[in-house]
Amino acid sequence: MSEESLHEVLGEAEGVIRDFTGAEAALAEAEQRRDRTRQSLLEQVERLRDEVDAVHAPELIGVLRHLYWQQPGIHGRPLAEAAGLHLHEMLAAIGPAPSGIMCADCGTELLRTSRSWKPPARYGPPLCPDCLSRQRDARSRTWRVASLRGRIVAETRVQARAVDWRAAAELVLAFPPLSQGVGRGSSTDQQDGVWRGWENARAVRDRLIASAAAADDTMGVAVYEAQLLVDTALRVADWDTARTRDILEPLTPEPALALLTRLRREVRFTAQAARERAYAAYPEGYELSEDEETEAWRNSQG
Ligand SMILES: [Zn+2]
Repeated sequence: MSEESLHEVLGEAEGVIRDFTGAEAALAEAEQRRDRTRQSLLEQVERLRDEVDAVHAPELIGVLRHLYWQQPGIHGRPLAEAAGLHLHEMLAAIGPAPSGIMCADCGTELLRTSRSWKPPARYGPPLCPDCLSRQRDARSRTWRVASLRGRIVAETRVQARAVDWRAAAELVLAFPPLSQGVGRGSSTDQQDGVWRGWENARAVRDRLIASAAAADDTMGVAVYEAQLLVDTALRVADWDTARTRDILEPLTPEPALALLTRLRREVRFTAQAARERAYAAYPEGYELSEDEETEAWRNSQG
């Protein structure tokens, strides 16, 4: 590069630096002017507030609405303070602004209630407040109807001979979870419900003993208990077939698997019938009466 052209480039660079510095100065001045006019705008708002007889005077609210929604350079909080209001009071007074987003259900335009507003229903299409609350109502109604159905199933009893229940319970109790190396509350326990199954068997057996039922008497066991009892018994029945035979021998000549399979069929049949009754009583889209609402609510409180 020659001496002359080097000087030329340096000279041009100096010129551009001057331009840049000038532009920065102009920007700083403009910013200062903006801050000043912002300040005097707020002062005008204060004067206006002093002139009108109430903070909710339409003239004042009109100015606030314009400044808040159309002039994002005027911050919300100082604006509200200039008008003698808290931010939330000002927002309530000026009302919402259109958002350009339509409700996915009814097509009305959603309204922004503040500058930081985001469309509701983050996990689905945007909905207006009316449609959102309708959707929530429908969901909780579905849930309440389901809880009433569940109650019908839970109250249903599986009928079988006392000796059958006793055999299933004794079988489970003969293989306590400790011998399976499963600690209470361990992850295997929580997954398979090992201890729950054992405790359930004990509760059923205790009730059988307390009722002093004869072997051939028919006894009812709640669907969920019966299900758990039979499932647990089927799991342990073939671990040690000799021992299983020893346990059942004093009670019944029937082989364990035959007895449990028969019991399981009875449980399934009864549960299915109960579910059908529950759906017949509370079909899809069922409207709850006030009493049923209360009952469903009580159900949910355990
Ligand atoms: Zn809507």
